[in-house]
Amino acid sequence: MPHRFAAAFPIAVHRRLISAHCPAATPPRVRTLGNDVCAGSNAAVTRRFYARIEFQELPLSLSPPQFARRPRLAVHKFSSCDGCQLALLNLGEGLLDLAERVDIIHFAEFGTVDDDAEADIALVEGSVSTPHEVERIREVRARSKYLIALGACATSGGIQALRNLADAPAWTRAVYATPQFISTLDRVTPLSLHVRVDLELWGCPVNAYQLLAAMHDLLVGVSPAPSRDKLCMECKRQGHVCVVVAHGQPCMGPVTATGCGVLCPAQGRDCYGCSGPAESPNVAALAARMRGLGLTRRDIAQRFLAIHSAAPEFAPLKETGDE
Ligand code: SF4
Ligand code: SF4
Repeated sequence: MPHRFAAAFPIAVHRRLISAHCPAATPPRVRTLGNDVCAGSNAAVTRRFYARIEFQELPLSLSPPQFARRPRLAVHKFSSCDGCQLALLNLGEGLLDLAERVDIIHFAEFGTVDDDAEADIALVEGSVSTPHEVERIREVRARSKYLIALGACATSGGIQALRNLADAPAWTRAVYATPQFISTLDRVTPLSLHVRVDLELWGCPVNAYQLLAAMHDLLVGVSPAPSRDKLCMECKRQGHVCVVVAHGQPCMGPVTATGCGVLCPAQGRDCYGCSGPAESPNVAALAARMRGLGLTRRDIAQRFLAIHSAAPEFAPLKETGDE
């Protein structure tokens, strides 16, 4: 499979980078989309390692053809916990690498505020949960050339979309002493139900190295195309022991998209599906397997719906009974 950065980096340059930087001092065992794995090393570490290295190789002054100038980046927040913005901040030096190659014009947690500025790339965290947010996401879209939905809330509604499964106005009346001051929509929705979204990066929070790889692609004029392959595929490539087979844990890997570097199974615990549904997930088969592991129907529904309850792929689980 061709490396997705092949257009930007001659393969010889890439090989030089790998042989110079691979912590295991061996050629990569597997090359997948932006996710090289060195034999004998911690795959999550090498994944971050390569995302950083590839990004650092970029010239400082780039004018990608689709923007025709040094890109201007805005980071917007909608209904969310700020975790995806924190993931971006936690890139540390990687964020400084990014800031050297784009002008960050709006990112409140970074200390730069200009909500109304025109942006080439808009990163949008959060779901649309209020009438004001419906108007605001349309305004952000109109002011942005390329819009990336960042994380679970922006891509599928996130945890707050759980209220779509209940009587939200009744909850509002029960929780707030003066519910007449609360202005929310009856349903929490992802960005794509309101505006055109150019790229969705799932995860709760988003994987900041996947974001860095997407930014790399945009800066060299390539359309980012993150894999929605199943987590199990990457788990097996990395050689981890399957926690379902070995320990009977209800891992969501068979229906969850890759992108996180297999963080949880790599630590011997089951995936809870934060990266959202994979392409063509066999939801019924995994639910049946979980029944075999002793989970109740309610347990299974909670497993699938906790973070991505608004994802259409997991919709059949909403009909699951209490047993
Ligand atoms: S541990 Fe989870 S992700 Fe890994 S192979 Fe097993 S089911 Fe798939
Ligand atoms: S293994 Fe699963 S729960 Fe853990 S970070 Fe990856 S997608 Fe999220």
